[in-house]
Amino acid sequence: MNSKIWLSSPHMSGKELDYINKAFETNWIAPLGPNVTGFESDIQEYLNDNSLVAALSSGTAAIHLALILLGVKQGDEVICQSMTFSASVNPIVYLGATPIFIDSEKETWNISPEQLEIAIIDRIKKGKKPKVIIAVHLYGMPYKVDEINKIANAYNIPVLEDSAEAFGSTYKNKKCGTFGKISILSFNGNKIISTSGGGALVTKDSIIKEKAVFLATQARDKSVAYLHSHIGYNYRMSNVLAGIGRGQMEVIDKRVKARRDNYNFYSDNLKEIEEITFIDEPKEHFSNKWLSCILTKSESMREELRIKLEENNIESRPLWKPMHQQPIFMNYPKYLNGVSDELFKKGLCLPSGSNLTDNELNRVLSVIKTYFGVC
Ligand SMILES: *Cc1c(COP(=O)(O)O)cnc(C)c1O
Repeated sequence: MNSKIWLSSPHMSGKELDYINKAFETNWIAPLGPNVTGFESDIQEYLNDNSLVAALSSGTAAIHLALILLGVKQGDEVICQSMTFSASVNPIVYLGATPIFIDSEKETWNISPEQLEIAIIDRIKKGKKPKVIIAVHLYGMPYKVDEINKIANAYNIPVLEDSAEAFGSTYKNKKCGTFGKISILSFNGNKIISTSGGGALVTKDSIIKEKAVFLATQARDKSVAYLHSHIGYNYRMSNVLAGIGRGQMEVIDKRVKARRDNYNFYSDNLKEIEEITFIDEPKEHFSNKWLSCILTKSESMREELRIKLEENNIESRPLWKPMHQQPIFMNYPKYLNGVSDELFKKGLCLPSGSNLTDNELNRVLSVIKTYFGVC
């Protein structure tokens, strides 16, 4: 049997161990410490937009804190892109608020400006103005930032930018992670860079950053004794894991390039197969191509191809199942146009790790070509 080809596996550079060893030598094993502040300033420098970064235990934790800091409370409504990973939505429900799902547009697969505005108008008419808009750059492809911001500004609703999959992507030459009132990043094992588990909250507002760190460290008031006037969380990143992050930041641009090369390899070599389509980057949108995705002609074709890959020990996955189709979320309000349902039926994510070898890429290619009868 051929060795397993994973969808997206962690890719260490070797530099990570230097930072981790430093943490061990100085016994900075506890949360916080020089690697955490170093990792935060590495990210700040990379985003290059006066952004302030708080390194946290996960992207989900960052979304949870962001919603709290944007004032979301029990009974509030929060708008969220339906086509996403469930972690974009779960924290809305942690807070006792109601998610309102918005369908995608075809060009970027992200939140549809038309459906967004229809939803805002309708929610206001029904009696509640949404508190926050969660927009996601899916698979690294930037959403329509100008269009979404224009609507958000017109109704004065802050945007929480879920950039978990889009670190290294840009829109109009500005980095994703700089477009929200608050933005979040993820360094989970499958993301473009990884700290094994981790995330970050990004903002230009120094008070928001300060409050995020405060809430993430059990909300201890400034006092010698343990004094608490808020409910806190244990959401800070550990100094050991931040060491992995520092090593990863040295190679982030290489990781983006490798993922984009994977995508170009697939799209160049599969262009003669008319049953398969890719999405082009709209002008001004630069994707890190976190995952290389294809659209097939039908759900059955997608499944047959996925099973063929699996039989050859190759992991591939359908696109994110839209949240409005999920058993746990399907009864919440939704504003749909059919796009995400269609994408979910036909779409497949191919192996996309930055550490894939030429041999592995060719194995994937040959299974796909064989399935479609071209060689
Ligand atoms: C990975 C991911 C998250 C959550 O990040 P974690 O660090 O795994 O908690 C949130 N949103 C999207 C779109 C993601 O892909």
